[in-house]
Amino acid sequence: MAYCSKCGSQLNEGDKACGNCGEPVPGATRATDTNSNDMWMGILAYLGILALVPYLVKDQSAFVRSHAIRGINLLVLEVIAWVAVGVFAWVPILDGILSTVVGLASFAFSLIGIINVANKEDKDLPFIGGIRLIKG
Ligand SMILES: [Zn+2]
Repeated sequence: MAYCSKCGSQLNEGDKACGNCGEPVPGATRATDTNSNDMWMGILAYLGILALVPYLVKDQSAFVRSHAIRGINLLVLEVIAWVAVGVFAWVPILDGILSTVVGLASFAFSLIGIINVANKEDKDLPFIGGIRLIKG
């Protein structure tokens, strides 16, 4: 197991840069930290089904990888939420309230994720960040 030469954080196999401080890993392919490709891939992670793109494309940076996993988990949670909405579809008013809440929550979480990517922050979404139905 390798460790960052700068901050001592544990490095995952294949990391091109330290996930903690961004220090490039010696010997790895030269990492341009959070370049524009990373940015777009990170944003895709929060655009519903498009999260599959950064998730399935190999050799992404640790930054894209962790956002892709967050995006996939968000997608799975949204599918579950929409199924739940479907279950209550026969209830007048409640179905409207539920679909509005799920729609707004999906939008809000995607927006928070995209803002994190834009700020080059590798952090979890609030409230649902700890829910990992799909792991790396
Ligand atoms: Zn480091």
